[in-house]
Amino acid sequence: MIVRAGTFFDGTLAQPRRNVDIEIDGTSIVAVRDAGGGSAVDREAACVTPGLVNAHVHLEMNGEPDTMASLAVMNQNQRMLQAVSNARKSLAAGVTTVRDVGSSFGISPAVRDAINSGQIPGPRMRAAGAVLCMTGGHGWFVGRQIDGPWDARKGVREQLSAGADCIKVIATGGVLTKGAVPGNAQLLPQELEAAISEAHRHDMRVAAHAIGTQGINNALRAGVDSIEHGHMLDDEAIDLFKRHDVFLVPTLTAPTCILEHLADGRQPDWVLRKAEFVGQAMRTNIARAWKAGVKIAGGSDAGTPFNFHDKYAYEVELMHTLLGMTPQQALNAATAVAAELIGLHRGILAPGEPADLLLLDADISGNIRALARPQAVLKAGRFAGA
Ligand SMILES: [Zn+2]
Repeated sequence: MIVRAGTFFDGTLAQPRRNVDIEIDGTSIVAVRDAGGGSAVDREAACVTPGLVNAHVHLEMNGEPDTMASLAVMNQNQRMLQAVSNARKSLAAGVTTVRDVGSSFGISPAVRDAINSGQIPGPRMRAAGAVLCMTGGHGWFVGRQIDGPWDARKGVREQLSAGADCIKVIATGGVLTKGAVPGNAQLLPQELEAAISEAHRHDMRVAAHAIGTQGINNALRAGVDSIEHGHMLDDEAIDLFKRHDVFLVPTLTAPTCILEHLADGRQPDWVLRKAEFVGQAMRTNIARAWKAGVKIAGGSDAGTPFNFHDKYAYEVELMHTLLGMTPQQALNAATAVAAELIGLHRGILAPGEPADLLLLDADISGNIRALARPQAVLKAGRFAGA
């Protein structure tokens, strides 16, 4: 199959190319060359980019206004069905790879396996299983509560045995758990170190939910691979990020969507108060980290209030508008950089790479919102929905 692109972004920061033919054989790209040469073109698009990579999702959550209350009335089967439905929606919207950083009942590894075996449509996936949090800590209602370093190791081993291929730890409070203060550190440095070293022994990378300054720095010192949210990061954190080569996944969509629905009256007051505080810190600190050269990977926290799985293009837009990235830099964060963090493939379009790509009706340099409505989505050389 040959796809002809008016403008071609390969996912890197290289100058975009004009008028190229992308040749796909089976599941992979075999050639990218100047258009023409008499070859029959199967599809044409104004712009072609790699499929999007969302490094922070929760497939079992659906964007309900009150996360804790919604999950409380959903049993395991209902959560699983929601995850299956969200996997399909993500792919149809152009998200061809995700990392699910927290689900209950072993749902995310099961969904990943069902996608890989062709039973259900969905993106390529990494799955963390249950989040590891302190007793009563942020996310306890979908988490494995751990107390003490040995229990932290056991928690990691349980996720491994349940099929997880990455680990999520909770280093601070969060917005969506009643009583959890986002600025406060939660798991202790010793617990973080134990969980991270155990995960690394089994080649699993570790993501830390961390909003408050102390918890961010605890996780960075403990050797974590990515900080999720990171909204109250300070100069010391910026230094640690760079020295340890750690990714920041800022999930700009999460507080933004909560605050866009402030007036609806459908979200608990305590969520709104925390989101206002966190949103403010986010707008200053994440842009500062980006300018200082911290490696930013795209991830939206899809599943949180009004943050739907088929709206990941909004995170790319926010990286452009809130952080000052160019559209191409934001695309790079949401493809190659996020893919580097997830570690399944390189997230770029080049010979030998998986044929995961989006056909868009406009060049994203002039219209980043073109990403929100792909004309067609290919995963492994096949049209999503075909
Ligand atoms: Zn999350």
